[in-house]
Amino acid sequence: MQLLQNVHDIQTYRQTLNGSVGFVPTMGALHKGHLSLMRASMEQNQHTLVSIFVNPTQFGENEDFGSYPRTLEQDLSLCRETGVDAVFAPSVDSMYSKDEMSFNPPRGMASVLEGADRPHHFGGVLQIVLKLFMLSKPTRAYFGQKDAQQVLLIQKMVNDLFLDTHVVSCPIVRDEDGLALSSRNIYLNTQERKQALAIPNTIQRIHREIEQGKYDVAYLEKLALENLKDLEVCYASFYSRSLGKITHITLNESIFLIAAKVGKVRLLDNLWI
Ligand code: AMP
Repeated sequence: MQLLQNVHDIQTYRQTLNGSVGFVPTMGALHKGHLSLMRASMEQNQHTLVSIFVNPTQFGENEDFGSYPRTLEQDLSLCRETGVDAVFAPSVDSMYSKDEMSFNPPRGMASVLEGADRPHHFGGVLQIVLKLFMLSKPTRAYFGQKDAQQVLLIQKMVNDLFLDTHVVSCPIVRDEDGLALSSRNIYLNTQERKQALAIPNTIQRIHREIEQGKYDVAYLEKLALENLKDLEVCYASFYSRSLGKITHITLNESIFLIAAKVGKVRLLDNLWI
């Protein structure tokens, strides 16, 4: 496996590749969710390239950029065991210059849900993903459905900028107790982890209700809030895939999204309906 640590390395490496390239962008602290994206890429492409980069421009001033878990050596071992071809792990200085152009994502999609509390977050995400796409020139790029708003905005960027990359969204990988895997789960103590299970339990409950034909959003959102009553809920809401609020579910067009805080840890989960 090749370790690429600066822009020149990845540009040179990319020129040597013939055939399809799958790309998996991550911020490291890798877990089985990330590995599922790598495996999907390896099945569908001749080459798989992973990036590990904690991107400063997507963190707000009071967020956890400084303390975000950084476990590069362990991450590289996992990538090697999984069998990817190369890992791009650049420094912040090699990815950004001073006073760069910034990105304005579409307001409608980027100012709701995660964007309501984090006004610059998706601008930073799209900025780094576009830079990484320019360097890796992927045939396909792999993202988790767990970060639903993120993958929908990346698809929108690919459409709007006519980028020649196919966005693949992959199912949420969960721990045995049902909690969606996240690099931030390590911040939860035993008690908080138990409390956090209200989130996947609510997702399951809503799933069952929908299977039984309950499509009324007001009813389902009330039910979800009752199930999440012990947590600090940021939102538990239904949206269309273009991120408009909906009142009635349409199959293959709707998403139910939860963000809730357990102690200081903010957790995300969702259901693609
Ligand atoms: P991150 O390192 O948190 O930026 O995540 C990198 C990619 O892994 C993103 O596309 C995430 O949506 C995806 N991802 C994170 N957690 C999971 C999970 N539990 N299941 C599937 N994909 C995930």
